[in-house]
Amino acid sequence: MSFSLSGLSTPSKAGGEKKVKVLVLGSGPAGLAAALYAARAELEPVVLTGTELGGQAALTHTIENYPGFPDGVGGSELGELFQKQAERFGAKVEFDTANSVDLSSHPYKVSTDNGEYLAETLIVATGARPNHLDIPGEVELTGKGVSYCATCDGWFFKEKRVVVVGGGDSALEEGLFLTRFAESVTIIHRRDSLRAGKVLQNRAFSDPKIKFVWNSVVTEVVGTEKVTTLKLKDTQTGAESALETDGLFIFIGHTPNTQMFRGQLEMDELGYINANHLMETNLPGVFVAGEVTDSHFRQVITSAGMGAAAAIQATHFLEKASVNA
Ligand code: NAP
Repeated sequence: MSFSLSGLSTPSKAGGEKKVKVLVLGSGPAGLAAALYAARAELEPVVLTGTELGGQAALTHTIENYPGFPDGVGGSELGELFQKQAERFGAKVEFDTANSVDLSSHPYKVSTDNGEYLAETLIVATGARPNHLDIPGEVELTGKGVSYCATCDGWFFKEKRVVVVGGGDSALEEGLFLTRFAESVTIIHRRDSLRAGKVLQNRAFSDPKIKFVWNSVVTEVVGTEKVTTLKLKDTQTGAESALETDGLFIFIGHTPNTQMFRGQLEMDELGYINANHLMETNLPGVFVAGEVTDSHFRQVITSAGMGAAAAIQATHFLEKASVNA
């Protein structure tokens, strides 16, 4: 593959293709931090927001572990601050979604809802999406009692009974959040011990509104206009039972948004894009940041840190390419 910087002023439009030095895919903490750093390097990055402005962090009610905010900060508020800061230095945030990429030649081609980009460097920060249980009734009753976001939907369950599925940090954190609204929160976990950290476990165990159903999975969501009942199965005995509820919140991990990079960027077996400590992928000039490459830390601060690192490397890449041009 050969690299050429000739004629690439940023961002320009010729023949329907917008030419940019740095194209950031995704507007979560990783994407917006990358945009900030690239903007401060005067690379006039363009950010394609995707469908979820602010990424998953924007769906979090309060973020209490992002340094600099001793009293916590709202997830969407933090996203807005990130965006404002990046724009102050010249980043352009486009409400547009990348649909396909062609990484077989350079500059890299990205097709979006609104057109096409030719990018000298690409920072992939497309994040991850919540996993589904894949059980009968789940899809049909999504938005009618089935949810993957307590911050978005918790308010609808004032004085109602809700069930949370999962045993990780997300399940407990979101379950605790739901106690603000719900009359009761029942956490159903497939084992008899939690994966979540001790602090959250202690908070959940001491919350009078939260109870646990151990060694159980939900096998079906029942209801027509709204969720009424869940069918459960004991993972030890196989015994089946039913539990009446008004809502089902599912927090059982995530899948990275990497479908359009399949066959072009190297990934692990779960679809997370492989990167080295410099956030470099198998392709020169393509960098990654945040949950699209990280299934382990999944924190706002680690994603933002990776975004900054990716932008620094993109800057070095462009500097080297211009010296060699
Ligand atoms: P996670 O740690 O992978 O936990 C997923 C949970 O869902 C596990 O308890 C798992 O059960 C269960 N599960 C998975 N598939 C299931 C299925 N098909 N049916 C029933 N249960 C199923 O995911 P997470 O809670 O989203 O957390 C992901 C990462 O983000 C972690 O590293 C976590 O520490 C981090 N995180 C941190 C915070 C925080 O620090 N405040 C908040 C949220 C997330 P098993 O335990 O049996 O595998």
